Order: sequence, then C-alpha cells, then structure tokens
Amino acid sequence: MNLAQSLLAASERHPELEAFPRLTYGELLPRVRRIAGGLGVEPGDRVATVLDNRLETALLYWAAQWAGAVFVPLSWRLSEEELDYCLADCGARVVLRDGDPLPDGLDHPGALDRDEREISLILYTSGTTGRPKGVPRSHAADRAGGWSQALQHGYGWRDRTLGVMPLYHTMGIHSLLAMHLVGGCFVPQARWDAAEALRLIEEERISSLYLAPTLFHDLVHHAELAARDVSSVRALGYAGAAMTSTLVRRCAEAFSPEVFVNHYGSTEIYTFSIGRDQLAKPGCAGRPAVNTRLELLATGEVCVDLSSDEAFAGYWNRPDADEKAIRDGWYATGDTGHVDADGDLWIDGRVDDMIISGGENVHPLEVEDVLAGHPGVVEVAVIGVVDERLGQRVTAIVVGEATAEELDAHCLASPLARFKRPREYRHVDSLPKSASGKILRRMLRDETTVDA
Ligand code: AMP
Repeated sequence: MNLAQSLLAASERHPELEAFPRLTYGELLPRVRRIAGGLGVEPGDRVATVLDNRLETALLYWAAQWAGAVFVPLSWRLSEEELDYCLADCGARVVLRDGDPLPDGLDHPGALDRDEREISLILYTSGTTGRPKGVPRSHAADRAGGWSQALQHGYGWRDRTLGVMPLYHTMGIHSLLAMHLVGGCFVPQARWDAAEALRLIEEERISSLYLAPTLFHDLVHHAELAARDVSSVRALGYAGAAMTSTLVRRCAEAFSPEVFVNHYGSTEIYTFSIGRDQLAKPGCAGRPAVNTRLELLATGEVCVDLSSDEAFAGYWNRPDADEKAIRDGWYATGDTGHVDADGDLWIDGRVDDMIISGGENVHPLEVEDVLAGHPGVVEVAVIGVVDERLGQRVTAIVVGEATAEELDAHCLASPLARFKRPREYRHVDSLPKSASGKILRRMLRDETTVDA
C-alpha cells in the first residue's frame, strides 16, 4: 500500500476522528486533494519545504503523497548555501517557505497506483562533517517505520501526540505517520518552547510524547510543570541520544508513564532497537526492533541488516557515502555498543567520539551519566582534548553550579573507574546541539582545541 492509499483508507476507516486538532480524517482528505491539485506536480517530482511544524506543513506532506510526489522537508536552521545545495541536489520542482500561501487547486484524483517501493520522501542528514546527504525513503519503508513505532511505543486509536520534533527529521515524520496509521491525532507545535508544550499537553490532552532527551530535560525542569495537568500522558519515548539515569527518573516522576521506551534508530533505517523498560534499565537500547537484525563487529560497531522493512536503499546521488556505510547488505551505524549479560544492547558512543586516554578507551556517555547525577549539574558533555602525555585528556564541559572539586569527589564516590574521571572541567552557559537534540561534540572539540 502506498501513502496515498494509506491516507484514503484512514479517511474511510474513521472519518469522525481528529487527525489534527479540530480537523477530522473526513475533513482532511478534501483539503489534501485541493492542495495536491494546486501543487501542479507530476508523480516523482520533488516538493521541497523550509517550514516550521505547522498544520500546513503536515498538510503539504500529505498533499505530496497524494500527488505521488516526493516530499523534501528542509531544516530552517540550514544556511542559505546549504539550502541551495540541497535544493539543487534533489532537483526541487516546487519550494515552499514560511509565509508562502498554501497551494489551492482543483481536486487531485490521487496517485493511488504508485508502487509502494517508489520514493515518497527525501530527508537530509547533516552528519557532523561534509555536505548534507539525501536519504530517500520509500512509501513502504516509512509505513513500516510508522507501524513499528505505533506498536513499540504502545499507540492506539485516539492517541494524541505532540508534533514538535521537526517534520524535516525522521522522528517528526514518523510521529505523524504513526498517528495517522492508528487513527490518532497529531498536535503540531511550530517550534520548541517548553512552556507552550506544557500548555498543549494539558489543553490538547496529549497521551504520548516522543521527543529528544534535551526536550524532556527542558520539560521536567520547567517551573510551570507543577502548575500544569499532565496526567493525560501515558506513553513516553525518546530517541536521538541515550537519556541519563537521572533524566529517566525525573521523567518518570513527572509523568508516571505506563510505557517508557528508548528508540534507537536513524534516518537511514528508522528503528534499530527498542529499550522497552527505561525505568528498570535507564538508557538501555534493549533488543532489536520488530523489523530488525543487529550485529556487533569486533570493534563494537553496531551494524543493522538492510533487509529491514524500514531501511533505505542507499543515499541520493552519493555513491561515496554508500560505499562508506553499506557493507554486504549491512548498514554500518558508526555507533559503538555492547551487549550486557541479559542480552540487552547499550550504546557507548560514536566510533569517532571514543576518547583514548593513556591507552585506555573511555566512552564519554559513561562519564556523562555519572556527572549528570550530581544535583549541581544541569547538562554535561565529555570530550577528549589533545594532551601531550595522555594522548587525550578526559574533559567535562559543564552547565551548572557544581565545582570541579565537587564533581571529582562525586566521581570518586561512584562506580566509575578512576582513570575515566575527567582531568579537567570547563564551565559554559549552554551546550551546542543539533535539531534532534544531539550534543555537537565535534563543535565542542573544535572550540576547546582553539582556546586550549
Ligand atoms: P539521525 O539519522 O539524525 O536520526 O541520527 C542517527 C544516530 O543518532 C544514530 O546512529 C545514533 O548515533 C544516534 N541515536 C539515535 N537514537 C539513539 C538512541 N536512542 N540512543 C543513542 N544514540 C541514538
């Protein structure tokens, strides 16, 4: 089934349910048909957007699917040069930016005969170096990703999710799809603002939250949390990075969730693994997801079987990137991990984030997890800084009031091996982050190199 058929089926199945606040599935389809008619595109054409998470953005996504076109949502955080690069790279036929009116035309009959293996979406992943890479996603792969999210995050009919993870990111698109596969409601929030999110949770009776850890961090530390009724929230999921045990605990206290999962995946293959019980094992990436097989190389690198229903089939125009990431039918994630005695996966970090200090491997996440447990730490990132004697010196970049002495004493009192303790602490006001909430360690490393 392609995504145009999928939308048609949803509108026939439960026309009375809300697809978006105050817009039912029955009302959605006629709107989508007119926008699709107004786009003036042929099947396969690329429709690019540079938009916030508004209702209009989600309607454009569906209109592109209805017309059999390829939706290319681009981040408003990209520079003009990067945008130009992506627009030329995908060969956009139409570009819509904030302030442009929604197209409106004659009812489009719907590209109901498109093969589900055709491309429906291209997402650009920034990576930490080099040009952005286009990741083409088929109708079938995105539907499979939506279903696996619905199942593994425990969604059902009438569930309501906060649509704030960017629709130009895999988490945003799959939240929309998962909701519209199960007959749920996607409540758009244009851009992240914790107070506004708390208001939406209360007023829209949000039942599931699927956010990057940083956003959960903002929610549970917000002064307005206590004043808001968040009792409608039943399911929590996070992705993009592992949560610290402290943050897992804070989220559990704030929301008392029935379901609390860690979703480990990527743009290329939507779900790698699911840590099903975050309360029991905070930060754990758990077991391979329903569509997935995983393998750990001797180096610890996590590889994922590309025969997953949720997998891409290679980058857009980038044989160099294919060659680097795809090996004999497996996708090399660039992440390192290990499996514990129960058979559960833990992600230790990126292959290139590993710190080698005095010949010993130190995974930044392990040290960060300990430091984040100190009450005087708001946020922390651990990196390796060039050191003449050690090769790399474990260095903690800290947001918060805890002093170096207090933090060192805290590490000594923890189970962390002594040699993994930071040799140096630097205090900053905030940490640089990507749109999906990942700490940009490379940027921190570059900054510390400059002023070291
Ligand atoms: P992206 O394609 O932007 O979603 O980035 C995918 C990468 O994000 C993965 O290869 C991991 O490095 C990281 N990532 C995503 N989810 C998690 C998670 N739950 N735990 C740890 N790292 C994650």
